[in-house]
Amino acid sequence: MKVVDTEEQIYSYDMMCGDLEELKSMYPDRFSYHSAGVSADGRNIYEIVFGNPDAGKTIIFQAGIHAREYMTSQLMMAQLEFYLCCSPDAVYGDVTFGRLFEEVSVHVFPMVNPDGISISQFGLDGISDAAVRADIKAWYDRDKREGRTSYSFADYLKYWKANANGVDLNRNFDYGFAEYSGANAPGAMKYKGTAPGGEPESAVLIRRTRELSPELAVSYHASGSVIYWDYGQTGGLRDVCSAMVDVIHAVNRNEIRYAATDKQDAAGFGDWLVMSEGIPSATVEIGVGTAPLAADEFPDIWERNAMMWAALADFAREQR
Ligand SMILES: [Zn+2]
Repeated sequence: MKVVDTEEQIYSYDMMCGDLEELKSMYPDRFSYHSAGVSADGRNIYEIVFGNPDAGKTIIFQAGIHAREYMTSQLMMAQLEFYLCCSPDAVYGDVTFGRLFEEVSVHVFPMVNPDGISISQFGLDGISDAAVRADIKAWYDRDKREGRTSYSFADYLKYWKANANGVDLNRNFDYGFAEYSGANAPGAMKYKGTAPGGEPESAVLIRRTRELSPELAVSYHASGSVIYWDYGQTGGLRDVCSAMVDVIHAVNRNEIRYAATDKQDAAGFGDWLVMSEGIPSATVEIGVGTAPLAADEFPDIWERNAMMWAALADFAREQR
């Protein structure tokens, strides 16, 4: 019997918290998790550490930064359970999992934007702070009045991408921030916020990236079944990114796209990792339908991404 439910379409913050506790009781020595920060509506931004925490090499996965793309969080948690269940004697290529995760630790931020995900899943009922609920309703009324949305209030919330402050977290990083225009006020999507890293969720990713200085980082989004990279990086960094993307593609067979150089697609975590910090990074978009993805997409997404931690750990251990 699996702990992480991958058959229901909604995978909530509360379900994730319960699964983390249950997996911890089943595999107390195999992983750890802690809260790396707290969101506006009081939820924890969790970080999971799988593998040897003192390994010389580290990789980061982050998911659920865009609210309606919450199947990415379900995928991260299913991957955690899968690797916990796998024997250390299982192999990737000719390397055992035991050795892979002795040499490389995996740091996972499975649900970077828990407030936004709660909004997409449960509407205003997903938010406990009355002032935040009132703001969200006011932003909808303004967007409706000014012709920026044709959605009903229910659909506006269902397709929400931002956090509870109405900031699109993947436009809140310090590369291309000034040039990105997007929306000029808080709302469901495309508002970059007042300053890069100014939101609790983006601040967590920035702080932990700098503390961990990982070999590579991968962001999971939905949808399109593609891999985005190419922020204009050159030289050795470009070569490593290109080789890493080949590894990702060999696992999930997603189409490779080089479209991330558009200024109106900038200020994301990936842009900042590669161009400001010099850390190899790519974005994996899962699924083919409009997010929130339907539950029946999960089996194919799972089949394409189950081996990703092992493949990228194997890649990371060969670097430098
Ligand atoms: Zn996204």
